[in-house]
Amino acid sequence: EPVLALERVEKVYNRDLPSEVQVLRGASLAIAPGEVVALVAPSGAGKSTLLHIAGLLDTADRGSVRIGGQEMTGASDRRRTMARRADIGFVYQFHHLLPEFSALENIVLPQLAAGVRARVAEARARDLLVSVGVGARADHRPSALSGGEQQRVAFCRALANGPRLLLADEPTGNLDPATSDTVFGALMGLVRETGLAALIATHNLELAARMDRILHLEDGRLA
Ligand code: ADP
Ligand code: ADP
Repeated sequence: EPVLALERVEKVYNRDLPSEVQVLRGASLAIAPGEVVALVAPSGAGKSTLLHIAGLLDTADRGSVRIGGQEMTGASDRRRTMARRADIGFVYQFHHLLPEFSALENIVLPQLAAGVRARVAEARARDLLVSVGVGARADHRPSALSGGEQQRVAFCRALANGPRLLLADEPTGNLDPATSDTVFGALMGLVRETGLAALIATHNLELAARMDRILHLEDGRLA
């Protein structure tokens, strides 16, 4: 059973206005547990829209979105929010870490919010940081970390509560090529270790080629 399944998803912005734009025109995909899929598309093609719909942050106009076999189309906001918190981790181009907290605390906080005990949350945060090679930076604030380190901490945060699906929007987009490579390697290590399914939007075709499969978003459809 796929972790994420989209079927014939359609999305229009500004319907019935002169600025109306149909971004998705029947986009379908299925991602199995453990599968890492690259999402490649020109800027403006609808990658963020697709990721927001897959991540239950936005709704499709037509078509179906299933997470772990559960139909999310037409589900209540409450159910969608619960599914998002339980099953989905997000990583963006910019890390969005909380500046006043340490790297470790940034990974502990979402676990506390989910009801995990402090000592367990801290141990998990440390393990995650060590596994991406930033264990020695656990007590530093984000501003004291390099861009690559910040992004690796953001991955740890996204995985803190053990999601089944990772959605990433240009996670190495603001890093130089060598750092992108390190960060991507760390991400793949984490993903392989946890058996997570991942959909990773990237402009970097070398990184895309290292994933299990590449989906191209063109003219509102996926191929
Ligand atoms: P990408 O992430 O591939 O650059 P987006 O999904 O951000 O593409 O945007 C796809 C298209 O939809 C663009 O033409 C963009 O201007 C338009 N768009 C995105 N979000 C909105 C919105 N909230 N309202 C109106 N148009 C939007
Ligand atoms: P942007 O691309 O505009 O910088 P983001 O990609 O960070 O913004 O987030 C896109 C939208 O999703 C924003 O409205 C943000 O508030 C929301 N968002 C991001 N992460 C989460 C999350 N984990 N839960 C709920 N909403 C989120």
